[in-house]
Amino acid sequence: MTPAPIITIALSKGRIYDDTLPLLAQAGLVPAIDPERSRKLIIPTNRPDVRLVIVRATDVPTYVQFGGADLGVAGKDVLDEHGGDGLYQPVDLDIARCRMVVAARSDFDYPAAVAQRRRLRAATKFERTAREHFAAKGLHVDLIKLYGSMELAPLTGLADVIVDLVDTGNTLKANNLVAVEEISLVSARLIVNPAALRLKRALLRPLIDTVAQAAATARARRLEAAHG
Ligand code: AMP
Repeated sequence: MTPAPIITIALSKGRIYDDTLPLLAQAGLVPAIDPERSRKLIIPTNRPDVRLVIVRATDVPTYVQFGGADLGVAGKDVLDEHGGDGLYQPVDLDIARCRMVVAARSDFDYPAAVAQRRRLRAATKFERTAREHFAAKGLHVDLIKLYGSMELAPLTGLADVIVDLVDTGNTLKANNLVAVEEISLVSARLIVNPAALRLKRALLRPLIDTVAQAAATARARRLEAAHG
């Protein structure tokens, strides 16, 4: 007898996991273990045919692209860096929302630097996003790849500007930086391996549709709350 197909969903710990959980719950899916309290990387769920795998946020598109997972949830920031090849992106889940910005020290005159076409040094972990953004503005920029604590770069003279994600703005403020340009609005997307969708359509399609519906309901509730 052929074993029943298993659906594997790739998630990263933290905000994406926390915000995805209620959407999965609406699809009747509940993880059996809390990954924050366990070192296990494969997390069973209440459904024997569905499991979660816990990977780094930047690895989620790779797992889904190459079939290590059928579905995943990844931020638009991560997807833009990955390029999105071999991924079907049917649903903007509208979770883990933030902005991709250019930020600088509050005493740095970014508009003047742009107007004078000055060659800038930009530190970021989002190299592709930064390269495309500055190229579209016709600016020559030396990119410095960092893996974290980007806010430190303008403070130490490593770079003139950073390209980074901003949510509340508290981290920029605490480090005397200001957002000088918005590049894009970022939210997390459901991503799907197209071959898996063909092969396991009967299992995957209802799950995708329910998660999409749950995301739409959550968005409508949030908008309603925001507009009183
Ligand atoms: P905040 O102080 O709330 O503006 O958050 C800024 C810090 O959180 C920066 O270090 C960002 O890289 C990180 N951050 C904000 N939003 C996100 C997100 N949606 N996904 C990943 N990192 C984020």
